[in-house]
Amino acid sequence: MSSLVHFGQRHVAKGISRSVNAVIVSGKGSRVRLDDERIMLDFTCGIGVTNLGHCHPRVSQAAAEQCNQVTHVQCSIAFHTPYLRLIEKLLPVMPHPSLDTFFFWNSGSEAVEAAIKLARAATGAYHGRTFGAMALTRSKTIYSQGVHPLMPGVFTTGFPYWHQYSSTPSVPEEELTRKALWQLDLVLCQQTRPEETAAIIIEPVLGEGGYVPAPVKFLQGLRQICDKHGILLIIDEVQSGFGRTGKYFAIEYSGVKPDIMVMAKGIANGFPLSGIVSRKELMDKQAPGSVGGTYAGNAVSCAAGVACAEVMQDEQILANVNARSAELFKALNALKTSPETESYISDVRGQGLMVAVEFTSPGRTENDPGANASNIPGLASKVAAICQEKGLLILTTSVYEVIRFIPALNITEKELAEGVTIFKEAVIEAVK
Ligand code: PMP
Repeated sequence: MSSLVHFGQRHVAKGISRSVNAVIVSGKGSRVRLDDERIMLDFTCGIGVTNLGHCHPRVSQAAAEQCNQVTHVQCSIAFHTPYLRLIEKLLPVMPHPSLDTFFFWNSGSEAVEAAIKLARAATGAYHGRTFGAMALTRSKTIYSQGVHPLMPGVFTTGFPYWHQYSSTPSVPEEELTRKALWQLDLVLCQQTRPEETAAIIIEPVLGEGGYVPAPVKFLQGLRQICDKHGILLIIDEVQSGFGRTGKYFAIEYSGVKPDIMVMAKGIANGFPLSGIVSRKELMDKQAPGSVGGTYAGNAVSCAAGVACAEVMQDEQILANVNARSAELFKALNALKTSPETESYISDVRGQGLMVAVEFTSPGRTENDPGANASNIPGLASKVAAICQEKGLLILTTSVYEVIRFIPALNITEKELAEGVTIFKEAVIEAVK
């Protein structure tokens, strides 16, 4: 281990965990170079951020040029050009034409909180100036461990996902959807009155919860419930947006119109930028001066965002996502049915290049819902560690035994095949 890694281990807070004990010194496209000179194929994209590959030349150039124009214009002082140009670029790719009024932040969490704040302000249930995105998180207890109580007024209901009921993917999607909508209806009868409920927030594809696409009928059902009661529907596209699922935004698969959409990660390929979008009439319910932040909508990040939108179009990124996705699913499904590994792989799922392989969990049975499955070090972490030794950076997700594939959206056929080969070898080695 290098002396720099030792330095980091001593002086960087333990609360930040790391998948690889190394320093990444540079990145180009789908590869990163470590300080020990190892070149790794990167299937993490900084958790779905560097969607156009590391240091895309057009994005880097746009940011560099902006550095010589103006780097910081505080959003409550004046507009700046890249902010407005970014809106111009995003307007035509919104999942619904009513989404025409924007507000940029720095991180996904801030944007989620901005969406909640807007929903509460717009529906009259305003509860102060600060909220907690953490209070909405249900993927793992680690994020909120030891810091309760969280923001009140948040109610949860189950996602239509077989884990809710079974240790194998045996429950049909229609039944999962029907049960989940039923449960939601009960929440609105038993826990929070519809007229006191500002919004329902959902990821169209669960990210940290296991890379699970929400069934189309479920999203449509949510829209109906929201319309019936005058509740706002907030779609969190932080991880699933900007081409990750093969459409610009994952919600497009359902045709559902979000009232508020949350964006981040892929919006600027690694420059800190997030945002929310809604219809003007809703956004304008917030009084001037009630929202904003020192760095919100930074000029260099917005300039990078403009370049990303241009690259998405000029390099036909969505077409590449769909072509590579078909190859990835074919290879992973073949692994799922291969005699060597079939008894260890319970599910292959996802959309576009947001794909998961789930392994069987040693601690889960039909009588054990597996809430503590993550306490049993299982196959997913073992496979990720072997992949790393073989030169592939890949991440696990959720409390279950899941490996997620989030390669760059412009990954080549050859690079994808190389990563999949390493993954297959790692699985075979791990189950030996
Ligand atoms: N929403 C979703 C769906 C996410 O995946 C994430 C980050 N993993 C966030 C919100 C929070 O984003 P950030 O880490 O930028 O605060």
